[in-house]
Amino acid sequence: MSSKFMRLNGQETVRQTVAGLPELVEIFYLCPRCLEPADEPLPCPRCGGERVMCRPGAANDPVRKPLIAATGEFRGRAPVWWLRAIGALAN
Ligand SMILES: [Zn+2]
Repeated sequence: MSSKFMRLNGQETVRQTVAGLPELVEIFYLCPRCLEPADEPLPCPRCGGERVMCRPGAANDPVRKPLIAATGEFRGRAPVWWLRAIGALAN
């Protein structure tokens, strides 16, 4: 993940870690059709579509992995944060 998408946006993007140090939570926006990224919720310059908000979480966050079925297998390849972004999965 490029540091280009790092941004502070008030309390929502800063969590307190156990050690009391603020931890950045990355938020960026992607066009669901073209996957054009932006750090603001602006319309996609290619298709004019609405970008969706993405929160890929920290490096060790399980939302970076695909959904895991009860049998322990990955269900598809899309990470959980993307499924949430496009509304395929509840937050
Ligand atoms: Zn687009």
